[in-house]
Amino acid sequence: MNRGKVLIVSGSAGSGKSTVLSGFKGGEVEPFRFSVSATTRQPRAGEVDGRDYLFVTKERFEEMIENGELLEHAVFNKNYYGTPKAPVERLIEEGKVVILEIEVDGAEQVMNTFDERDLLSVFISPPDYETLEARLRGRGTNTEEDIRERLERAKVELEYSRLYQHILINFDNRSQDVTSAIVELVNGHSLKGLDIYCDSSEKLKERFYN
Ligand code: 5GP
Repeated sequence: MNRGKVLIVSGSAGSGKSTVLSGFKGGEVEPFRFSVSATTRQPRAGEVDGRDYLFVTKERFEEMIENGELLEHAVFNKNYYGTPKAPVERLIEEGKVVILEIEVDGAEQVMNTFDERDLLSVFISPPDYETLEARLRGRGTNTEEDIRERLERAKVELEYSRLYQHILINFDNRSQDVTSAIVELVNGHSLKGLDIYCDSSEKLKERFYN
């Protein structure tokens, strides 16, 4: 059996990465599997323990760090998030492509842990700053302070895009194209020339701020 891969997918709030990845949910799309992260944040309405996250206490999370049970971990919005190591290793042995939907700090740790050939990394970005802001405001549930914070955080995350092997632009109403592009990358195809493919972090920043 072929060895599988880790597929890191990151993107700021407003990048639309959850919608892009929902194309792989349900466990029916071979060879994709989702890593279920541990977190200390409270479950949101509709979230199921063990499916969306392993919801744990701060004490338990710190124990997981101590015991070396996590592949990576980070603090985001004052909560811990981390990827349990054992399931990821098992799924790779089984030849699966394990999706890690994680923020940039944790992603960098995984990049430093895994061999290049066992790893695929994708950064999903909104097309530009205006679109990002419109998406964050469009949700209508966030306070002004919250929106400002997320915009600032998105700028920082944009800097990290240079660490990723591939950058994909998620234009409005085109998340299906981004999902398909990820499948193409996993299959080893080149996306150069495609309008949703961005060649470099510099080009991404240019289009973001112009
Ligand atoms: P949320 O609380 O909205 O579900 O997730 C907040 C952020 O944490 C998102 O950017 C998400 O990708 C990231 N995240 C989720 N799980 C993990 C994890 O296991 N490790 C790291 N480093 N980030 C995670």
